[in-house]
Amino acid sequence: MTEPSFLLDGMLGSLARWLRIIGYDSEYLRDEEDSALLAILGDRYLLTRDKQLSQRAGPKGFYLESDDLDVQLSTVVERFALRLDLERTRCSACNGLLQKASKDVVKDKVEEGTWSEHQEFWMCHECGKVYWQGAHWKNIRDRLDKIS
Ligand SMILES: [Zn+2]
Repeated sequence: MTEPSFLLDGMLGSLARWLRIIGYDSEYLRDEEDSALLAILGDRYLLTRDKQLSQRAGPKGFYLESDDLDVQLSTVVERFALRLDLERTRCSACNGLLQKASKDVVKDKVEEGTWSEHQEFWMCHECGKVYWQGAHWKNIRDRLDKIS
């Protein structure tokens, strides 16, 4: 089974970042017209706070009633049976894929304390942002524990 991918409307930027963190391909376009979103939808599900827009997307449309990020995330996780996979996580900034990076490679890109405390690093294939399983991951775990 292929994993679902998503396109999120302009009101769902925070949700897009979280879906990327838990490993799902999530495009987010802030300033597009509804018709433009529908035109580029392809195989993605359209997550939107706009009920009319979700209906225009047909079976690919998914309307999110709540304004609350935790509710939105838990709703989507449940509806699409998403799971957290740290090996597949995407860059929260740009939706790029992360790759394991050696300590040498990231030495100049993270603070010294972070560098000496952690053994495993990941780097975004697209924008070069560096990730590690520090406080960042604890926050993710906490949030997911809270909603599941
Ligand atoms: Zn990136």
